[in-house]
Amino acid sequence: MAASPSAQTEVWALVLDYVRAHVKPQQFETWFQSLRLERLGSDGVVIVTPNTFYKRWMDNHYRDLLERACSEVLEGDANVVFTVGVSAGEPEQGVERSFDETGQEGDRSAGVLPHASADLPSATTPRLLPLSNETSIPGTLQLNPQYTFPQFVVGPSNRLAHAACLAVVENPAQVYNPLFLHGDVGLGKTHLLQAVSFGSLDKNPAIRIVYLSCEAFVNEYISALQGGELELFRNRYRNVDLLLIDDIHFLASKKALQEEFFHTFNALHTAQKQIILSSDASPHEIPDLEARLVSRFKWGLVAEVEPPQYETKAAIIRRKAKIRGKKLADEVVDYLATTLDSNIRELEGAVLKIIVMAGLQNQDIDVQLCKVGLKELTPRPGQVSITEIMSHVANHFHLKISDLQGKKRSKSIVLPRQICMYLGRSLTPCSLEELGGHFGGRDHTTVLYSEGRIRELMKRDPEMRTLLERFARELKRA
Ligand code: ADP
Ligand code: MG
Repeated sequence: MAASPSAQTEVWALVLDYVRAHVKPQQFETWFQSLRLERLGSDGVVIVTPNTFYKRWMDNHYRDLLERACSEVLEGDANVVFTVGVSAGEPEQGVERSFDETGQEGDRSAGVLPHASADLPSATTPRLLPLSNETSIPGTLQLNPQYTFPQFVVGPSNRLAHAACLAVVENPAQVYNPLFLHGDVGLGKTHLLQAVSFGSLDKNPAIRIVYLSCEAFVNEYISALQGGELELFRNRYRNVDLLLIDDIHFLASKKALQEEFFHTFNALHTAQKQIILSSDASPHEIPDLEARLVSRFKWGLVAEVEPPQYETKAAIIRRKAKIRGKKLADEVVDYLATTLDSNIRELEGAVLKIIVMAGLQNQDIDVQLCKVGLKELTPRPGQVSITEIMSHVANHFHLKISDLQGKKRSKSIVLPRQICMYLGRSLTPCSLEELGGHFGGRDHTTVLYSEGRIRELMKRDPEMRTLLERFARELKRA
């Protein structure tokens, strides 16, 4: 069945056409766009998937469809073989493993999932991975394929939280229930929660998982209430094996929601189902949280994720550069680790910025380049920061900054969010990816789209133009 490269390209295009006609667009985008046809060989049609999780998923869910597609296109029985490798358009990279803060490979016997270590997230893997449409998993499970255990750098600041998460994957509802992670923003709580979701799915593909932000939980509750579907809502959350709620501090001061969550919690805990929560504060520090919830949140393990120290920061900087195919010199890592703040999201943004700058200027990454790059990261007097833009826009539209950063797509939030992205593009030196990161980890294409949309609106609508010009003036003056 050997075929020339051009014939192979043609076959693959036809196979994808067939698949596209047989699945929903979202499924196609999620599962098929990152695949690559390796070869049409005597061993069958060899298709490359971005990581082991993908491979397993494709094997379990889409093998038949792809075999039918290939048989149709090749006009004969076709056998499909999935492998793990680098997806289309990706530079060749080594396999990532778990390293501790000294750069030593993690001790697998200590619990790093053995089969997860080959997971190689790729830039072509969709950032949001809806897993629910063909399984019994209720709700939509949206995960970032980069947030896996092998990609998580372990150090003293997060060792307890990391170990607890691994333990929960190995023994759900047996060791720590609930597991409550807390710490400042940008320190890896969401990463860990999603890593547990991936790890648990990898261990048991049939597991029923709900992972969502507390804000989404609240929104679903409100729409269930309004639509008279409270029973449905309750069944959905009370019939899972693993419930992960991110940013549970969002329940602060919301009495009715706390009551609802209290019952969800009890139902799951009694049925010995695992609950994992994350928060920016410890249970007793969440404002106006009912005492019975505070006490329940402490039933299992409360683990704090702390800001990383120098060694961990350095290891994270190395890791983030390596994911982008770069090895940084020791003095560069040292400079970044000592100069940058401990917020890992910001560390990541800085590393990315420096890599992009070096690429654009066709220069090596040295300390001098970092100095220039970092100067741009910290706003100079008169320069606008993305935080200032968000608070200005939030204020004008009577929203919270968390609304702008969240996932809600209601009209009243989408437009202000797009306005922020437009202003971010025109007033800050942030890259598309950095801007996307500030708005709930959105993709760079979303930022580009938002910018274009606002430009269009400004052309058509003089009021919009006046408003945006005013925002820009006010922000520059502030
Ligand atoms: P939080 O939810 O605590 O605000 P996130 O989980 O969103 O923080 O982490 C912010 C960014 O930093 C993410 O891109 C995440 O992958 C990265 N990150 C955080 N901690 C680590 C770590 N220990 N190793 C590697 N990346 C990390
Ligand atoms: Mg988070």
